[in-house]
Order: sequence, then structure tokens, then C-alpha cells
Amino acid sequence: MTGTAPATFTADDYRARMERAARAAAEAGLAGLLVAPGPDLVWLTGYAPTAVTERLTLLVLTPGRTPVLVVPALEAPDAARAPGATALTPHEWTDGADPYAVTAALLDGTGRFGISDDTWAMHLLGLQRTLPGTSYACLTDALPMLRAVKDTAERELLAAAGAAADQAFEEIRKVPFAGRRESEIGAALAELLLRFGHSRVDFTIVGSGPNGADPHHEVGDRVIGLGDMVVLDFGGLKDGYGSDTTRTVHVGEPTEEERRVHDVVREAQEAGFRAVHPGATCQDVDRAARAVIADAGYGEYFIHRTGHGIGVTTHEPPYLVEGEEQPLVPGMCFSIEPGIYLPGRFGVRIEDIVTVTGDGARRLNDTTREMVIVE
Ligand code: ZN
Ligand code: ZN
Ligand code: ZN
Repeated sequence: MTGTAPATFTADDYRARMERAARAAAEAGLAGLLVAPGPDLVWLTGYAPTAVTERLTLLVLTPGRTPVLVVPALEAPDAARAPGATALTPHEWTDGADPYAVTAALLDGTGRFGISDDTWAMHLLGLQRTLPGTSYACLTDALPMLRAVKDTAERELLAAAGAAADQAFEEIRKVPFAGRRESEIGAALAELLLRFGHSRVDFTIVGSGPNGADPHHEVGDRVIGLGDMVVLDFGGLKDGYGSDTTRTVHVGEPTEEERRVHDVVREAQEAGFRAVHPGATCQDVDRAARAVIADAGYGEYFIHRTGHGIGVTTHEPPYLVEGEEQPLVPGMCFSIEPGIYLPGRFGVRIEDIVTVTGDGARRLNDTTREMVIVE
């Protein structure tokens, strides 16, 4: 996975992030962090190779030492243009060399390292073979909150991505739904996200009628008809930061039951939002939203966690789920997205991205949470 690094951040910003990551690694008892191309590398250095190949590229962060980027010689000029390049030392290797031996020379041969989740297995196995005394932990397991607290510039980028997704919703609600396939509405949503400044569309879920009761449904060939509830969940990356919002619309006049279910989800989403303040935990937010749905008698139909973090990816820690006792900290950004899914009938989900403030929370999505009636 690659992403476009936002131009907003300077080499000093990336230097500070790398220093913070190395410090956090030391505090967690790790000898260092190893980061392959992917969202962690984008966040730490601004570097996203255009193609991720079998040639090893690996950022080595060791507490108290200058960061080193192990990089294939032919990729080095590209890496040198990354905004964080001046904050690290490139360590080139050429075809024919053993990149694991090259990396091993930089590492404590008996250390335990955090390694980015999306590092290819062949690279991790190569390192283990070369340095049998080392051990490894998934970066997300070792330092789950490393990217979770967003600075001011990051929050502004997330707010701008959210505003662009909101613009896409304001346009899609005007188009006729009845008689069109889910896939057509999905394509229109993707086009709108790009028109409003996204560089990448990650998903456009259009779940009409019974398809809305399957939270994993993306788009299908089903023709949307009068009387359908339609779950619209869409997002992607704009200037390197994510959007993700859900609104559930209805084609024509809804039934009383459809209104009631939508009201319950809206109240659950509001309760989740009100539960967000510094010092509350992730599971508190899940419990607050879930209690509203359970009290209304639909508890068994809310079949997923309440939310997930968002940043340089559209899904990342923190996760708002029972058992997650991580306290909320100002600057964290995540979704609140309760839903009710009635199998074979319809589903309703409402999702906003919110950010934790000094005394509560602020929404980064602001289209109406009332049920929108479409044609
Ligand atoms: Zn209906
Ligand atoms: Zn979503
Ligand atoms: Zn989401």
C-alpha cells in the first residue's frame, strides 16, 4: 500500500516523529523499530515508494542513533526526494548483495524489534535467518498508540478530508436512486470523492434493502427500488489523510419501523459522541452507543465494534471496542459508527469521524444525521 505524503510536514516534523517513535520503542523494551513501506513509513518519513517490490526497503530506528533507511540503490534517488529524507541516513544496497546481511550489520543481534505490520513475510524471515538471536513484535501490538494522537496539522487534514466527504454526500443525496444499480451509485460516490479533492478512494459501500443488513457488503448489481433503505459508507485519502462517513438514506417515504430503527441508531451515535472526553476509555464509547441500541431491543443486531481510529489510513488504532481500556487523549481521531442490521430486511448505520478535544469531542463530519429521503 502506498500513499501520498502531504506537503504540510517538514523534515523537522518527521525527525520529531522518528525520535518519538524510537523513544517509545526504548520505553517498551525494544532494541528498535523496523519499518517497511506502508502507512508507518509514510507517517515517519513521508516516503511512499511508487511500487513496493521484493527488494528490501527498511527504516531502522534505534534509540539514540540517527535513523537509517536501508534502500535499494535504484530507489535511492526517489527516497532522497521524500520530505523526511534529510532526517535520516540512506544505506544503499545493490542487486547481488544480501539485503538482510546489510541490515543485520545495523542491528543488535540479540535484540527484540518492533516491525511494521505490513512488512512482507519474506523480509522478516530473511532477518530471522540472518540474526537468529533476534525476536520481533508487530508494531501495532508493541506500540498501538504510536500514531493515534494527531497534531494540529494532522487534525486539520482530517477535517478537510471529512468536509470533502460531506460535500460528496450533499451531492449524492440529490441524484435519483430508484431504478439504478448499487454499483452505479458507488461509482458516482467515488467520482465525487475525487472531484472534492481525494487522491484515493478506499471504499464506497452502497447497501440497499437486504444488502444493507450485511455490514461488509460493498456494491452489487441490485437495482435500488422505492421503499429501500440504503446504507452509504464511503471514504479514502485526501492529501494523505483519511475520510470515512456513513449516512443511511431512504427511497421515498419510510415506514414507522424504519423511522424508529433510524432514530435508535442516531441516538446511539449521539450517545457515543457524548461519551467522548479525555480520561474516558475506548470501551466507554462503545458501551454508551451499545446501551442505547440494547435498551431499544436491538442489541443482538449491532454486530460490530463502535469505531476505529483514522489518520494516514482509514482503519487504525484506537479501536472502540469492549475490552479496550486505552484512555482517550486530546488529539485522538476515530469513527463513531453504530448500526442495526436486520437480516434479510435492511440495515442502518450512521458514522462520523470525531476528534477528542480538551473537554469533550468535535465532529469532523457534519451532514444531517436525520434520515434523508431520496428519490
Ligand atoms: Zn422502506
Ligand atoms: Zn465507514
Ligand atoms: Zn469506519
